[in-house]
Amino acid sequence: MGEKWMKQVAEGMQDFYRRLTKDGYNPDDVKPALYEVERIVHMEQLRRQVLSCTDCSLCGHAKSRVPGTGNTGTPFMIVGEGPGEDEENWGLPLVGISGSLLTLILTKAGIRREQIYMTNVVKCRVTDEKGKNRTPAREETLECSKYLLRELEIIRPRVVLALGKVALQFFFPDMKTMSQFRGNVYDYNGIKVVPTWHPAYIVRQRGDALARSKREVWSDLKVAIECAKRNG
Ligand code: SF4
Repeated sequence: MGEKWMKQVAEGMQDFYRRLTKDGYNPDDVKPALYEVERIVHMEQLRRQVLSCTDCSLCGHAKSRVPGTGNTGTPFMIVGEGPGEDEENWGLPLVGISGSLLTLILTKAGIRREQIYMTNVVKCRVTDEKGKNRTPAREETLECSKYLLRELEIIRPRVVLALGKVALQFFFPDMKTMSQFRGNVYDYNGIKVVPTWHPAYIVRQRGDALARSKREVWSDLKVAIECAKRNG
């Protein structure tokens, strides 16, 4: 994000504040309105940056970039690993089979997608030599993590539901396995992080393992929703 551009936006907001309060509008109403406008402007700028990014080798075979999407004023963010084939084709995160399952689970919990914000650690699809999805190594995700850091900075959610190991390790590099660390709430710079299984993992399970993973994701989601409702 260019410093000059950020300065321009900040100066614009100061100017709007002066003009609106001079015209008699209550500063307590003006401030949150301008804060909202500023947040949307910053997020749009970030989206454009992601769409044109060629900053690392992961974009080598990627057909498109997939920025985050959703409500930028939400206390609840969901972070996945990276786009799969459907997400790459459609330009949106979590819209393939796993995203559809996630949407189903969210709906059962009373949450609509447009109420929250969804994104991935990596914005380009990562594939192997046969063109199949592959899990990026942590070192490969480092360059792209600047975008997720910026999304967290702009939205400042109360809680993040971290889907799968790549998302968990973005926040806590030393947490190596989901099975060991899920079921707890962690703190990341004042943001609650609730790790849970990626829906792609649930889609692959059968029998008892399927029932267990569904139960665990449901329980983690409920915890995350409670965190999102809480102030402080
Ligand atoms: S993976 Fe991220 S940093 Fe790398 S090219 Fe894609 S958008 Fe840019």
